[in-house]
Amino acid sequence: MRIGIFSDIHGNLEALEVVLESIEKENIDRLICLGDLVGYGPDPNLCVKMSIQAADITIAGNHDYAAINRITTENFNEYAREAIDWTKTVLNPESIEALHQLPLIVSENNMTAVHGTLESPSDWNYIMTIEDAYRNLMAMTTKICFIGHSHIPVNFIRDKNLDITLEKSNNIPIHKESMYLINVGSVGQPRDGDPRASYGILDMEKNEFHLKRIPYQIEKVQKKMEKYRLPRFLIERLAVGQ
Ligand code: ZN
Repeated sequence: MRIGIFSDIHGNLEALEVVLESIEKENIDRLICLGDLVGYGPDPNLCVKMSIQAADITIAGNHDYAAINRITTENFNEYAREAIDWTKTVLNPESIEALHQLPLIVSENNMTAVHGTLESPSDWNYIMTIEDAYRNLMAMTTKICFIGHSHIPVNFIRDKNLDITLEKSNNIPIHKESMYLINVGSVGQPRDGDPRASYGILDMEKNEFHLKRIPYQIEKVQKKMEKYRLPRFLIERLAVGQ
């Protein structure tokens, strides 16, 4: 079985389209979306519709819940808040209803999907370091946990001696006795210095995980963001992937 995992689309239709095209060529049996379909980008409705239609499972991110007033934006920075306020003005009833249906955590096939952290998913904490990853790895009841939220791809591996290592590689062998906490990066707003859209493939026969990067038409998205007067900082960061 080959599983595709994508996250943090953030209303970026051009990035989502190239990722879904790539996924179509990859013989994926099951597709998981880790949330943040909206926020930041100019096409929230189409991104909600296409992500949920394409994925077998979609979970909620903090921007999804903020856009439907399920959480406040008090912990958001000013640019994120401004973009959510704009998103609220354009979301259609179908998108609002669809976002309301998204759960915080889903587990299947010895895998768990959560946007932020497993031990407190509704606190929307970030896992950046081994210390952050420790609690999550200890809370895991499945071999692999996929996360998004930071927009930075990274792998945390707990071996049989309970030692945890941080692995930045795009290719990770999945060993029998280890547990894996994997951030698949972001489709619509990468922040690791590589502006290309990011998604992951887990091959359960070959026992390996790959991170894929796909270029897309960034200028096209930026033009739309300018038209809707979204914050300049958000427009510019797409080109540098930061
Ligand atoms: Zn996000």
